[in-house]
Amino acid sequence: MHKITHNWSEQFAFGALSSHFPADIPALQELVRQTPKLRVAGARHSFNDIVDTPGAILSLRGLERRIRIDAAARTVTVDGGTTYAELCPVLDAAGWALFNLPSIPDFTIVGAVSTATHGSGDGNRNLASSVAALDIVTATGDIVQLRRGEPDFDGAVVSLGALGVVVSLTLDLVPRFDIRQSVYHKLPFDDVVGNFDAVMGSAYSLSLFTHWNGDLVDQAWLKQREGETAPPTLFGGQPAPGESSPVWGKDPAGTTAQQGVAGTWYDRLPHARIGAIPAIGYEYQAEYFVARADAPAAMRAIKAIEAALHPALVVSEIRTIKGDEFWLSTNHGADSVGFHFSLVRDWAVVRPALLALEAALAPFKPRPHWGKLYVLPPSAVMPLYPRLEAFRALAARHDPAGKFRNTYLDRFIFGA
Ligand SMILES: Cc1cc2nc3c(=O)[nH]c(=O)nc-3n(C[C@H](O)[C@H](O)[C@H](O)COP(=O)(O)OP(=O)(O)OC[C@H]3O[C@@H](n4cnc5c(N)ncnc54)[C@H](O)[C@@H]3O)c2cc1C
Repeated sequence: MHKITHNWSEQFAFGALSSHFPADIPALQELVRQTPKLRVAGARHSFNDIVDTPGAILSLRGLERRIRIDAAARTVTVDGGTTYAELCPVLDAAGWALFNLPSIPDFTIVGAVSTATHGSGDGNRNLASSVAALDIVTATGDIVQLRRGEPDFDGAVVSLGALGVVVSLTLDLVPRFDIRQSVYHKLPFDDVVGNFDAVMGSAYSLSLFTHWNGDLVDQAWLKQREGETAPPTLFGGQPAPGESSPVWGKDPAGTTAQQGVAGTWYDRLPHARIGAIPAIGYEYQAEYFVARADAPAAMRAIKAIEAALHPALVVSEIRTIKGDEFWLSTNHGADSVGFHFSLVRDWAVVRPALLALEAALAPFKPRPHWGKLYVLPPSAVMPLYPRLEAFRALAARHDPAGKFRNTYLDRFIFGA
């Protein structure tokens, strides 16, 4: 297999000397034992240098990708390189589902949970919350298993790859379900801000898409389960006349079906269908999480800097995420709202926009998405994680020599 050279958006050329694709777990364990500096790459969809290393990059693409459903335990165990796109159709065919999904299905599941990747929904935690157990090849090459309820578990699921190579995950299942997706256009901004809880609570999963201009929020995408009814209008928003793209006015090709047509969970919860996303990225992304209670004030703060944002902005998405207890989760300790920004692929244009955004959100102590772009210094990020010291101690136990550390982790986690 060829050398791993870039992340998906091609912003970061990896400095790694070599790429490795072990064919089985013993070969992977031997590689880990022999290699002084190592990072694991999932699908490389992270936008910053989180995967980079001056040593070796390891991919699990050459390993078997087994999917083992335990109907009695209501769990599935998957091998480390498995993607949501590979897993979901198999689960669905067997009558099972995951409780939620991100906007596209192309990530490896380990890569997604390692950075606290999320979907939306007031009652939905991020995707790491479905992990019931994980197997990690640690720095010695030995396999450590951690299960939910054990002392280190909450530190090990959202790990940013700092503890070792996750070679298997066990995930909670729910019975398969259908979703109806309905899109509403042009919601008055003040009505959305004034009724934020009611708007975001109006579906199992709900995304707002907007350009922060004019007096309108462009779109609301409601993803409803059986028993939920699409309202005739949504806080002044009108039902879309046809299929919509998240980017206002763009061709909706590749998006999951809308117009209230029922479909299976994995073909409605993401915004993009399986196979719709190109292998090379077409945008940059940033995302910041603030406490749910601060959402209306944060929305007004972002709106106030719209002129600084516009040169860089493709579209913004607003989602809600239930709080959790994972030590490095961006949703740790409180329900939160995520302000996402799809951005033009030009760092010179994006950087000033992010600086303006971060200044506007500063009063709300934003946590940046671990896998996206941000300019915040470590001194602004580290104090937002009350269990950071505990995570450092956990990493030191599993990886005393820092084999899995890189510049990104040194800066934002270890403060080196
Ligand atoms: C088009 C697009 C849409 C997106 N939509 C969303 C969204 O809806 N919600 C959201 O929250 N984020 C979203 N993201 C961000 C994305 O979910 C994260 O960047 C995620 O981490 C990507 O997973 P990956 O498999 O590409 O992992 P990578 O980017 O390759 O790696 C991420 C981290 O996981 C670690 N890792 C990967 N595999 C292993 C392993 N086997 N063992 C140990 N560590 C491992 C890596 O070392 C790294 O630290 C989006 C990104 C893109 C490009």
